Amino acid sequence: MSGTRRCVVAGNWKMFKGPADTTRFFEEFLRRHSGRPDREVVFFPPAVSITTAAAALLAWPEIGLGVQNIHWEKEGAFTGETSAPMAAAAGARFALIGHSERRHVFGETDAQIARKIGAAFAAGLTPVICVGEKLEERRSGQLEQVLSRQLDTALDELAQPPSFLIAYEPVWAIGTGVNATPEDAAAAHGFLRQRLRSTIGSAADATPILYGGSVKPDNAAALLAAADVDGLLVGGASLDPAGFAAIAAA
Ligand code: PEP
Repeated sequence: MSGTRRCVVAGNWKMFKGPADTTRFFEEFLRRHSGRPDREVVFFPPAVSITTAAAALLAWPEIGLGVQNIHWEKEGAFTGETSAPMAAAAGARFALIGHSERRHVFGETDAQIARKIGAAFAAGLTPVICVGEKLEERRSGQLEQVLSRQLDTALDELAQPPSFLIAYEPVWAIGTGVNATPEDAAAAHGFLRQRLRSTIGSAADATPILYGGSVKPDNAAALLAAADVDGLLVGGASLDPAGFAAIAAA
């Protein structure tokens, strides 16, 4: 972790917790959350629970909210989709873009992800751009090639992108209970930082790169201590208020 970059610990609730469960979660989480001045906490509830989360967090403006996915259009005949301005109006300040489940379960392409990033910026949302390799890509030595392709296409259309975050989430570590070692995470994050420098120059040094993939209370501190790891994106373990409060304080 670098003293010059913000440290962000984010919880991605995936398709869990409707409004009632969201209220219950924050009742317990906020009782346990001490809040560290050097750490920013962000939640990504399902879109239907964003306004409930925003109401629960009224007295905690330092805790951020985001949307898990957006469409690139502002509105239209796109049944089931949420636009960036709608998410912002509901209380989101961040948007997860290109999460591995969006890429690999719903078939999102790099080109669609680039459009979503543009839409997020246009609506004033800070994108958290997710990248990561599959196990077979890592095993066949394609890690850097995959990360470069995902990162370069994501930023392709943006000459001077405003602030954003990157989440390195190896696909083989998401929801599997097998986290990357701190050394593996440091190597991938170091590579991403270099690659970012070649695209956005010195702004790369201010861009937080979060690690995600089977983060738990007992591995969070070691991952946060790894070089170039500026925070965590936590899926399953963010559903438990006590466990996530422990991760946020790790
Ligand atoms: C995620 O959904 O972004 C994630 C990292 O999931 P998990 O922590 O459950 O591996």
